[in-house]
Amino acid sequence: MPYIIEKLKLCFHVHIRSTRQCVLAILIMALVLVVIVPCFASETLPPASAADVQLKQLNVSADAVLYSQLHYTRPIADAVFSILVYGLILQTGLAAKLQDMVRKKFKNRLVQIALYYFLISAIAFIGCMPYLFFYSHWLPVHFDLSKMSDLEWFIERSKRFLVNTALGGIYWSLFFLLVQKFRQAWHLILFAVLAPLSAFFVFVWPITIDPLFNDFTELSAGSLRTYIKELATKAGIPDADILVADKSRQTKELNAYVTGIGPSARIVLWDTILAEMPENELLTVVAHETGHYVLLHVYKGYAISMVALFLGLLAAGLWAPGLVKRLPRRWGLSELTDLTLIPVVVLMTAPTALLLSPLESSVSRMFEHEADVFALKLTRQPVSLANAFITLAQKDLIDPHPPEWVEFWFFSHPSLGKRIDFALTGLQKPK
Ligand SMILES: [Zn+2]
Repeated sequence: MPYIIEKLKLCFHVHIRSTRQCVLAILIMALVLVVIVPCFASETLPPASAADVQLKQLNVSADAVLYSQLHYTRPIADAVFSILVYGLILQTGLAAKLQDMVRKKFKNRLVQIALYYFLISAIAFIGCMPYLFFYSHWLPVHFDLSKMSDLEWFIERSKRFLVNTALGGIYWSLFFLLVQKFRQAWHLILFAVLAPLSAFFVFVWPITIDPLFNDFTELSAGSLRTYIKELATKAGIPDADILVADKSRQTKELNAYVTGIGPSARIVLWDTILAEMPENELLTVVAHETGHYVLLHVYKGYAISMVALFLGLLAAGLWAPGLVKRLPRRWGLSELTDLTLIPVVVLMTAPTALLLSPLESSVSRMFEHEADVFALKLTRQPVSLANAFITLAQKDLIDPHPPEWVEFWFFSHPSLGKRIDFALTGLQKPK
């Protein structure tokens, strides 16, 4: 037990400074997860309307199968395009030439880093445009899911590029400043800086970045809001913000999600799901999102990503100094302080992310299944939950039965077929 507490203290060292506080934190978490959560299982929502108690027919359209199949190739295309574009930037000597140009023209190190990162990212953004256009815009338009014009799509993508580049610029500036100042322990100090900074971004993202792309409003008063508030109260989060995003300007797809931490935590429903999904199904979807909220999935996801960041930086601290010396000379990289490290890291990240995808996906699927279990226990409406998945399959053109290996490697959620089966049988299984 003391060993476990020491380990937990290591994980939570930012917040927990003594064994007593650690034990208290574990007891509170155990109380929430073991005592409070199962209490909701006996509660029920307002009865399903007559139209919703029947299980819908799961008709898979040919469009849904084709659209899904085309999307299975996306993560591989993503990695291939990244390797191709960044490989060309390095192999043609462009990355090295830009580094020389930026160093000659500007003396300030921060300006050099910011400008170099922007130029490399802009070239890669233009280079990846055919791939981005095909998967993010042409396919959804072709299958009648997107409502954006070519110009609207391009403006939105460009805005996302600028936001991501600004944030990436902050991370890279910190990296180069620290690697220059602390030649030996840069990776550990970088982790100590990035961990709280990333938590800060998780906190501010829903209130600063998301509103750049959509308007978020409180769910208006009415029977649905009353039911949702009732559901949130049963789940122990009566004050959770429930917001509506005006996604119908951009898409016909349906979605809901939970985001943010602390005061910025909120459950977001796209206005498309409010318009298209029957109320009883929608309540089970909200119950699923409530599950993410109550089961602290945003916090757990952050903790897991920080473990991954720590291991990644540890590996980089051990191997990167030796590795940069073995790269082709025309790449222009001989020291960790060289700006050409940026395209090299992105080039290496693409295949690494593809290889580690099963690990990331399985953790995500575990969280999604936990949220399904929570929704089922909270609402006790298996047919409505199954119907919600059928509605999602039909409206978002999702094949409920993808190939097993695709699900294993890439899916952040269990397949809709498995989720439907679980919704209909999950309550019958012994605990
Ligand atoms: Zn979910």
